[in-house]
Amino acid sequence: MSGVQKKNCIFGCDSLAIQNVPLHRFPNPDMRPALFTAWVTAVGENIGENKTQKIYKNKRICDHHFETKV
Ligand SMILES: [Zn+2]
Repeated sequence: MSGVQKKNCIFGCDSLAIQNVPLHRFPNPDMRPALFTAWVTAVGENIGENKTQKIYKNKRICDHHFETKV
């Protein structure tokens, strides 16, 4: 198991292009289920995953997508 955390935006932004951009994780689905669902809905098909825990643990959205919403 490698402990390397790759920077990866679910919208497919190039990891080099976002190396200086903060990545945001999803809200905790146990703590804030409504907010979590709102994020998943906003992301739509780009999520590529339907298990909430996997989304929460593995999926990130870079700061570029936060200028107009959330
Ligand atoms: Zn991005």
